[in-house]
Amino acid sequence: MQHHANMTAPGAAPIALRPQAPLLPGRTLGVLGGGQLGRMFVHTAQAMGYGTVVLDPDPDSPAGQVSHHHIQAGYDDPQGLAELARLADAVTTEFENVPAAALATLAARRPVAPAANAVALAQDRAQEKAHFVRCGVRCAPYAVIASAEQLAAAPAELLPGILKTLRLGYDGKGQRRVTTAAELSAAWHSLGQQPCVLEQWLALALECSVIVARGADGSIVHLPVQRNLHRDAILAVTEVYAGNLPQALVEQALQAAISIANGLQYVGLLCVEFFVLQDGSLVVNEIAPRPHNSGHYSQNACDLSQFELQLRTLAGLPLTAPRQHSPAVMLNLLGELWFAQGAVAQTPPWAEVLALPGTHLHLYGKGQARPGRKMGHLNVTGPSPQAARATALKAAALLGIAPF
Ligand code: ATP
Ligand code: MG
Repeated sequence: MQHHANMTAPGAAPIALRPQAPLLPGRTLGVLGGGQLGRMFVHTAQAMGYGTVVLDPDPDSPAGQVSHHHIQAGYDDPQGLAELARLADAVTTEFENVPAAALATLAARRPVAPAANAVALAQDRAQEKAHFVRCGVRCAPYAVIASAEQLAAAPAELLPGILKTLRLGYDGKGQRRVTTAAELSAAWHSLGQQPCVLEQWLALALECSVIVARGADGSIVHLPVQRNLHRDAILAVTEVYAGNLPQALVEQALQAAISIANGLQYVGLLCVEFFVLQDGSLVVNEIAPRPHNSGHYSQNACDLSQFELQLRTLAGLPLTAPRQHSPAVMLNLLGELWFAQGAVAQTPPWAEVLALPGTHLHLYGKGQARPGRKMGHLNVTGPSPQAARATALKAAALLGIAPF
């Protein structure tokens, strides 16, 4: 374990607080994970006058770079976790695959949100889907495939389908599309015969997601429902404005997300991803127990961002309903944009992009651009949905992002 103090945190040395008393500015908030989500949480916490401490093994992690303290240690390093509990008055996570045991260890000493059990559930596609079923929320037809027997017994009506590892998938990694029983078998073997779910391949009309924040007292608020475009299983564009989705779907998505959060007694920020099928019906895909890429527009388009909502749930501050004040389009800035001119990485034309009114650039401090790597995002706001879209399309053209 290495501990770097980047800056002096405000306020006095941390002391244990009763969890029911709000943690006010001057206290120190901890984050497990040093990626871009942690970085933006840290920025928000610091803007409000909190101290911050990040635990991440990477010496140059996006959040570690900007936090008051960076504990450079593995997520299961007992010394690192003890140091985090010592420095932080409460701890949250930004990393999907942080070991639930680490959260449980921390929870013995400090308020932790979200709780270990919710994070563990979201890490396991079988547990996650069982929870959807319990909550009465429809998900894709599926079967767990963890043994040769289950492989042989896979229902034919799930084909064509998509085989996903139960654990550790993101951005479409650990997934194989299969059309026949033979392909299914080959795919399961190519994934090392690890436990998987086979989902029926659904004919999607579109995808959407919603972010809810739930406090320890059970109060719950939400951001508007986001419409998402994925390319190669990675989020490419999010559009949020009145009329982006039929009102009936918006209401169903909100009800489903609230049932899922309440069913877990969830405390913290939760994103629920949905599919909308070609027949117009809504199917839940998966949950993320943390801020989500599809919620980044809230930084510039809403009076409360998803990061401030996360902070308020963690600190036990009041949750007021966020209001979107501007129609918004978010463009993900993936590493390939640095290679639009050829094999040598070039800085994208930021000055031209920022000449377009209503563009807000967010970069994550990652040194090396690589295809598929999330380097940043561009939030585009405008006075109307048409204006935001028109500006976003101009920015996309400048950056080499295909039109949408
Ligand atoms: P992330 O965690 O980055 O959101 P992931 O690796 O967990 O991604 P999923 O959300 O399961 O992956 O799937 C990625 C994308 O693949 C979905 O957003 C959707 O576009 C497509 N997809 C996944 N499952 C199905 C399905 N059953 N039918 C149709 N499309 C699917
Ligand atoms: Mg997903």
